[in-house]
Amino acid sequence: MHEVLSSRFVLALIVSLAATSAATASAQWGWFRPTGPRYALDGVSRRATDHRCAPEEMVRYRSSGLRTSSGVVAHPAFVERMPELERVVREVSIAHYGRAPRRMLTVGAFVCRNIRGRDDRVSEHALGNALDVQGFELPAMRRADVAPAAMPRRLRRGFTVTVGTHWSARDEVGRYHGAFLRALVARLAHDEVFRVIYGPAHPGHTGHFHFDMSPFRWIHV
Ligand SMILES: [Zn+2]
Repeated sequence: MHEVLSSRFVLALIVSLAATSAATASAQWGWFRPTGPRYALDGVSRRATDHRCAPEEMVRYRSSGLRTSSGVVAHPAFVERMPELERVVREVSIAHYGRAPRRMLTVGAFVCRNIRGRDDRVSEHALGNALDVQGFELPAMRRADVAPAAMPRRLRRGFTVTVGTHWSARDEVGRYHGAFLRALVARLAHDEVFRVIYGPAHPGHTGHFHFDMSPFRWIHV
């Protein structure tokens, strides 16, 4: 049952993301049990009264490819998701821009805090089970890179694409960046790299994507 619902909703999400060039469009689907394999933190209580932050259990992610703008310190199980995130970022970036980013603008993984506005529930960040990403820096194209036909010429130079600036941008270049950000979220959802993805439609997320491995699936961007 959950599998059927999930595939249907993933499909709806992708169609909705792909069909919208309108900057204000958002995609949302609800709380479903994840369909993938069990995950190390599935059984951990998220009640604030039960939880004790455990910085000693966190590890630092060492990327072999995509650099991050801040150190990514998170639970070992979450860190294992990072190469998949990098793979999808690379592939979607090459499809849209003809080359991979040189840096992912990360703004926090493990942070010992509650969900904003809730005193009864800890954030997935408190479990080291979440990552916030503001955007990506791309280098100038090299001679061997192939520019996609639809890419505006000025994007052959180096640039920074961010959720805050480009998700809702209206000009030609901004819309192209917005399409990249939407394609990225659609692929991350489709490939089930993370169970939860929040973006600008979710309260408090106008400037970044939030990725986590909660024990439910919710894409709200
Ligand atoms: Zn977050």
